[in-house]
Amino acid sequence: MGSRRSFIEKVTVSAIGLPLLYNPSNLLAATSEQYDGPVLRVAIMGLGSYGNRVAKAMLDCKKAKLVGVISGTPSKIEEWRKAYDIPERNCYNYYNFDNIKDNPDIDAVYVITPNGLHCDQTIRVAKAGKHIICEKPMGINAGQGQKMVDACKAAKVKLLIGYRMHYEPKTVEVIRMRKAGEFGELKFFQGQSGFVIGDPAQWRLNKELAGGGAMMDIGIYSINGARYMLGEDPIWVTAQETKTDPVKFKEGIDETIQFQMGFPSGAVANCLSTYNMRNLDRFFMTGDEGWVEMKPSTGYGPIKGRTHKGELTRPHITHQTLQMDGMAELIFEDVEPIVPVDGEEGVKDMKIIDAIFEAVKTGGKVEVKV
Ligand code: NAD
Repeated sequence: MGSRRSFIEKVTVSAIGLPLLYNPSNLLAATSEQYDGPVLRVAIMGLGSYGNRVAKAMLDCKKAKLVGVISGTPSKIEEWRKAYDIPERNCYNYYNFDNIKDNPDIDAVYVITPNGLHCDQTIRVAKAGKHIICEKPMGINAGQGQKMVDACKAAKVKLLIGYRMHYEPKTVEVIRMRKAGEFGELKFFQGQSGFVIGDPAQWRLNKELAGGGAMMDIGIYSINGARYMLGEDPIWVTAQETKTDPVKFKEGIDETIQFQMGFPSGAVANCLSTYNMRNLDRFFMTGDEGWVEMKPSTGYGPIKGRTHKGELTRPHITHQTLQMDGMAELIFEDVEPIVPVDGEEGVKDMKIIDAIFEAVKTGGKVEVKV
């Protein structure tokens, strides 16, 4: 990860002469301009692989700061305390984190634990009166997602889902082009999301903790991507599952699912979600006047892409840095995001996943009402 200086230089140089691509206040967050507004003070829950990535990215944030941790492993808490200068009073474990309600130094908790734990943990944080950023998938089904939305509403706290691509500059540029009608009438989206999963003992292959297999983890990128690329929500899905390793991918853990979605405009999507193929990180979309291909489309970047007009040239900025500054704005300044990142947005993806699993079971077309 680059220093704050190199980060700022990259952004400032790349931004010269370019139109503002995304929320102007979000762009401000990534320039060398002084920032004197409120800073979102965040505690990360779950100090695993992605939690580490988010913490490092937050070093370059202007509007968000890591100030606390919640972990079941005391040695990790010690490491993080040293690495990020976290005071002891801002450290919690999974039993006592409800006490965060009495801690005025923490504004929000970022839940980065296994999917099956998100719902209960989010509801506990909401009851403690703190805002929540929760990783995708927000839960393991739409019912859980809705409970989380309701709990946060009741507690009058914000619930945001870690959709980092909604802040990624090349993705935002494609969304701008789509809104400007540059692709014409949209006809087709193709999403391919997958990787080969390793250790069979990991939580990602445990139904209770993961809620499913590849679809929950990586297929969700094609679902969410189809929605932000086309700018519509699907009204039906069909889906077919193939399983080559029923030992590793037990009942309830999907290995590979191909799925199709139909949209109100008549556009259709054809997607692949898998835990058993390499190099699958690609979006393609075509309309009657233009097209875009992104590969990689949702990895940590740099994202690469081209359209009928040529290469996408927007700068690479660490996704989680932009996301956390952007989310601080949403919480403090009530800005309008380019693509929603709230709990309701998360529930839509969960409803679509529920419908895909039903379509796999029934073999038929399943209506979706998001
Ligand atoms: P991980 O296994 O690396 O970390 C999970 C953390 O949760 C660990 O620190 C672990 O100790 C802790 N944990 C607490 N209770 C646990 C339990 N009962 N069982 C297992 N672990 C427990 O996983 P990760 O890759 O960091 O994923 C965490 C979440 O972040 C998932 O929801 C995942 O989908 C999401 N994620 C999002 C992105 C993204 O790009 N937005 C990328 C990776 C992961």
